[in-house]
Amino acid sequence: MTILRLPAGEEAVRTIRAASLVSSDLRGGTIAVPMQFGRRSILLVEDEESITAPLSEALRREGFEPRVAGTAAEALELAESTDPDLVLLDVMLPDGSGFDVCRELRARSSVPIIMLTARGDEADRVAGLEVGADDYVTKPFSAREVAARIRAVLRRAAPASEERGGVIEVGDVRLDPVKHEATLDGRRLELSRKEFDVLRLLMENAGAVVKRERLFEEVWDTNWFGSTKTLDVHISALRKKLGDDPAEPRYVHTVRGVGFRFAGPDER
Ligand code: CA
Repeated sequence: MTILRLPAGEEAVRTIRAASLVSSDLRGGTIAVPMQFGRRSILLVEDEESITAPLSEALRREGFEPRVAGTAAEALELAESTDPDLVLLDVMLPDGSGFDVCRELRARSSVPIIMLTARGDEADRVAGLEVGADDYVTKPFSAREVAARIRAVLRRAAPASEERGGVIEVGDVRLDPVKHEATLDGRRLELSRKEFDVLRLLMENAGAVVKRERLFEEVWDTNWFGSTKTLDVHISALRKKLGDDPAEPRYVHTVRGVGFRFAGPDER
């Protein structure tokens, strides 16, 4: 088993690609966890550099691998040759309409598509959804907002891949996303939908910390403006059902000021 320490920046990307295992070094202990997903590739179709340059950089920071296409023709070509995990598609392109590109992509594959539309243009949003887009983001947008939408759309698109063996097992906790069922030592846990989703995200990242922001983005679907207490209430309920002592948890550990970490398989 290879244990790696993660260097920063581009080096980290190469290291992650080169290795099947990534370590997380929390509070001094190094734990190896299986790498479930590589970096997701995003095809960004937009001709305005004032948007593509900062957005690409931000997406890279958020853990994605962006590639830019400046025209409709280039978009179709790159979609074919690079098989991206998701397409961010602007409506106004120099050589055509993003809607036509969307329709064309949809005819070829089920790649998730998020349209970039002008503010307040409801006709554009409806048109985008009608030609098969999964979601839209309104300009001007923040990179954080786009990243949150990407994660939410990728998550919703996930069931297809789950059918290829999506059961997650960490120690004596087993989670079956297709059956929406979780068990502890063979005993079924009665979880609410959100509790299940929180547990799933934590287990998918077992051994590594999952940030509070990410839990909000992925479980509550988008940027959360409500009380952060909601998350703590769900964590507390989960611990109760797992028989976890909050003072000395076996499963769900609090990483103060950052988020939560599901204990890795070697910890117990
Ligand atoms: Ca444009």
